[in-house]
Amino acid sequence: MKLNSVKETAVLIVGAGPSGLALACDLARRGVRAQVVEQAPALFPGSRGKGIQPRTREVLDDLGVGDAVRTHGGQAPTGLTWEGGERLGTYEMFRRAAPTEAEPYGEPWLMPQWRTQEILLARLRELGGEVLFATALTGLAQDDDGVTAQLTTGRIRASYLVAADGGRSTVRRALGIPMEGETVDPAPALVADVRIAEAALDRLNWHIFVGEAGYTTLCPLPGTADFQLVAQFKHGAPDTASDGVRKLIAARTHLAADDVTEVRWASDFRPRAALADRFRAGRVFLVGDAAHIHSPAGGQGLNTSVQDAYNLGWKLGQVLLHGAPAALLDSYEQERRPVAADMLGLSTRIHRGEQERGAAAQQLVLGYRGGPLSHGRAGLLEAGDRAPDGRADDGRADGSRRLFDVYRGPHFTLLAVGAETPLPYPEHALLRTHRVDACEAYGTGLFLVRPDGYVGWAGEDDHGLVAYADRLGLDLKSA
Ligand SMILES: Cc1cc2nc3c(=O)[nH]c(=O)nc-3n(C[C@H](O)[C@H](O)[C@H](O)COP(=O)(O)OP(=O)(O)OC[C@H]3O[C@@H](n4cnc5c(N)ncnc54)[C@H](O)[C@@H]3O)c2cc1C
Repeated sequence: MKLNSVKETAVLIVGAGPSGLALACDLARRGVRAQVVEQAPALFPGSRGKGIQPRTREVLDDLGVGDAVRTHGGQAPTGLTWEGGERLGTYEMFRRAAPTEAEPYGEPWLMPQWRTQEILLARLRELGGEVLFATALTGLAQDDDGVTAQLTTGRIRASYLVAADGGRSTVRRALGIPMEGETVDPAPALVADVRIAEAALDRLNWHIFVGEAGYTTLCPLPGTADFQLVAQFKHGAPDTASDGVRKLIAARTHLAADDVTEVRWASDFRPRAALADRFRAGRVFLVGDAAHIHSPAGGQGLNTSVQDAYNLGWKLGQVLLHGAPAALLDSYEQERRPVAADMLGLSTRIHRGEQERGAAAQQLVLGYRGGPLSHGRAGLLEAGDRAPDGRADDGRADGSRRLFDVYRGPHFTLLAVGAETPLPYPEHALLRTHRVDACEAYGTGLFLVRPDGYVGWAGEDDHGLVAYADRLGLDLKSA
């Protein structure tokens, strides 16, 4: 489709990386008209952000791609350290915990970023959406009613614009929003996707080669025949040409240059940590790397980016389709900027070896307690907490239905735990109601679970709930 005259859409999403695609899927399933524009002619081809944290798996499951993620990804392999061609020993790169009732994913999942994007694009198309490739935003202007964006193919008018255009964000620069930060590591690094002859290196381990020049890692990428190479350069600069990559592997590992049968993609980067001063300017929102960039060490960037989109999607839906006050959109920056700031600190500490990749990196403990949309407490939970999984206990003989099955979709859920807890409102398209007699992770009470899986409101009965729901554009009384 070519844009010759001014087209209109409710939300213009700039960038088809993980954050733009996740937002587009969320908006499409809500019935919000959105258009994604992407400057590149196709999806990004590299494996970059390969670690999917447990919380992001829950988000992807809610967006309807849980099965694809399970099929195409795999467990992170055990680390194996080498020095001078000798195996030094193995160690776990990540915290591994067994799945529990409340937390169905206990450890990070590996999948190349290009696959995550491919899965999200397929889901978007299934939901009726599309990406306009080879279409870059070059400028924008906003007024009280909307945003007019200049694209390389024409102009487009939108009620809201979301900058999902990565660390060098054109939108952020056009708005003049400063992004302060620091260099996490002065040494540049090379990242590449390579094929290695089967007999030369096993795919059971994440291989780590220690040496004078800096670390070199080769991680088998599940669902592919590739390894992701990451190499630090304490001296000199990375050479991203195929021959340069082969020579590097031969120089730093026991492999020969010929063992590298293909170099599929290569790039260089300098680990930095930076946070945009604001995540919103009028009708424009920044999500993902456009708002914060991290060291890759903690596996936080893609995850935080997808969760930005997940936080913003339902709020845009409520304002655009359900009459929620526009002030609801202020909560995006209020909730997400502190989370991003914490994640920056965490990934920098992990990069510098000052902290392990522990529970915090898995993002399950992350929440919005004390935030502008969090009200009350009941049982074991306080508003703002992630709504845990658990048995939905609705009489199915096999007990297989889960609370996450009840939550899955764009709706709110009113959950009553305990036989005596009142559940006085009817179900409708935007509200699912559900009762369980007991749930270990909740305790007794009434919980309004937001579409993004956090407890918004909690109490022993529904006192004050209607007024709270009004602020979110949720009419509890009418079906
Ligand atoms: C080596 C490495 C390893 C990493 N490992 C991890 C990891 O294990 N876990 C993790 O969570 N993260 C990791 N990351 C970080 C992760 O890759 C990023 O955080 C993630 O890609 C951010 O997604 P995004 O959608 O916000 O931005 P991007 O993926 O950068 O996407 C932005 C998109 O916008 C497009 N665009 C830019 N400007 C315009 C314009 N003007 N008009 C139209 N389109 C435009 C770009 O072409 C691009 O497709 C890693 C990064 C690196 C470099």
